[in-house]
Amino acid sequence: MTTTPITTISLQGYPVDVLRLELAYPDVQGNKFFKLKYNLSTAVEHGYRTILTFGGAFSNHVHATATACKQLGLHAIFIIRGEDDPDNPTCRYVRELGMEMQFIHREEYKLRNDPAFVRQLTAQFGDVYVLPEGGTNALAVQGCAEILSGIADQYDQIVCAVGTGGTLAGIINTKGLTAHVTGVCSLNGRTDTISPSVQAYVQPHAQNVQWKICFDSAFGKYAGFHPELHAYMQQFIAHHAIIPDPIYNGKMFYQVEHILKTGAWKNQRILCIHTGGLQGWEGWHYRYRNKIAQLEACKN
Ligand SMILES: *Cc1c(COP(=O)(O)O)cnc(C)c1O
Repeated sequence: MTTTPITTISLQGYPVDVLRLELAYPDVQGNKFFKLKYNLSTAVEHGYRTILTFGGAFSNHVHATATACKQLGLHAIFIIRGEDDPDNPTCRYVRELGMEMQFIHREEYKLRNDPAFVRQLTAQFGDVYVLPEGGTNALAVQGCAEILSGIADQYDQIVCAVGTGGTLAGIINTKGLTAHVTGVCSLNGRTDTISPSVQAYVQPHAQNVQWKICFDSAFGKYAGFHPELHAYMQQFIAHHAIIPDPIYNGKMFYQVEHILKTGAWKNQRILCIHTGGLQGWEGWHYRYRNKIAQLEACKN
């Protein structure tokens, strides 16, 4: 049985349960706890002292991996997309923990899943346990299949945010799941490359689970500022006393309200998984302080 708190809120007049992963694991937040769990235990078992992984400079994955490695006495090396910015709050935090960051050009970063490129990095850094971008691999999906432990048969609709889709794949693989699963993608859905990679992780016992990914709520580019989204999150916090993170869960709740408005989920037992990521607010305010100030000025 999950020990994670569940809060019932009212959205568009419908009761919606929220699984509060952002409260359950305050250090290594939200879904990242489950994604890292078996990866780091495997690394430790095999005697690795260093984790090497990839991410964006503001990413929850980088923040969570640095935190977990610190707790386990492991070293971490992050290959970061773009240029160094010493004032970036996530990077500052990672450095304070004594972890290492290497910044590479966006073009080179596109090679992050290329085996030859990864071999070159492991040759450079020595004996490292390599975790792909966003921490998604089979062990991460295995960890995420425990998120709904004990409550898998209590809902008709389950919703979670999607980045790489590893968390969604884990939810789909939950033993005894009876719900439809909806993933809400934070990236633009020009072409859907995510669904096939999720499908590749779906296990035989879960082949009949009905799931889909929505791309409607992406508000333009990933992690971009959108006044309507920002205003929505402010209003959401004021109404429900739950803080969604600005990159994933804000869009997730927005999309759920949109679906509820259509009446499609009438009489359905609905669970939204809050996947954490609250450290993202610091980076959000750091990047968008001018835009937020403009928005505030319009209100007054
Ligand atoms: C990383 C993250 C996601 C996306 O997880 P994936 O497994 O990459 O799809 C969703 N929500 C939050 C808060 C995250 O930090």
